[in-house]
Amino acid sequence: MPDSTTRRLFLGGTLLMLGGCATKTSTSLARLPGPIWTRPTQPTTPTPSPLPMTDGVISRAAWAKGSPNPTRMDRMTPIHRITIHHDGMTPFTDTSMSAARQRLESIRRAHLRRSPQPFGDIGYHFAIDPSGRVWAGRPISWQGAHVRAQNQGNLGIVLLGNYDRQSLNSAQKNALVRFLGQQMKTYRIRSNMVATHQEMAPTACPGRSLQFFMVSARKGRLA
Ligand SMILES: [Zn+2]
Repeated sequence: MPDSTTRRLFLGGTLLMLGGCATKTSTSLARLPGPIWTRPTQPTTPTPSPLPMTDGVISRAAWAKGSPNPTRMDRMTPIHRITIHHDGMTPFTDTSMSAARQRLESIRRAHLRRSPQPFGDIGYHFAIDPSGRVWAGRPISWQGAHVRAQNQGNLGIVLLGNYDRQSLNSAQKNALVRFLGQQMKTYRIRSNMVATHQEMAPTACPGRSLQFFMVSARKGRLA
């Protein structure tokens, strides 16, 4: 789906450019019947967007250095719940795009190396970085791998960083509430089906700061 959208945008850009060129040429010809064949040729290939994005989500292609392996994944069943995680690695406050790309790729690689059962792709469907950008992870056509034995119809969202050792900043809080609100609306999910990892299984994930925020957000902004 993101691919076809990108293609449409690309084609739209091409048509717009051709339209602009055609108008300019006829005006010039009317005024100057000069030797038009000597004009320098203009580049006709539009520059592709450096940031493929759909509905405010940066596409997986913008960061992942490999394709998902379908033989190690199950098809997604209708989405009826959402689970929030942190990546739980070292604290992460870098707001650059390149740092987020690297962090996502290192998570993907770790998930592909898991033993005894390697994942077919990064386990989460979406990630939010320290500046509040939302990144696409595992395509939602595939079931995630983020809560043991409870991944069916479960959308996995990870906040990049370690929220036992750092605090959630306001850009992330706003992005998380906004994005969760969108997903809850899209899949008709109520706030009682938006859980943190530790509410579903014995784990410290998503860390104290993120856990605290989610408890209050469900009573307030996400209620
Ligand atoms: Zn988790």
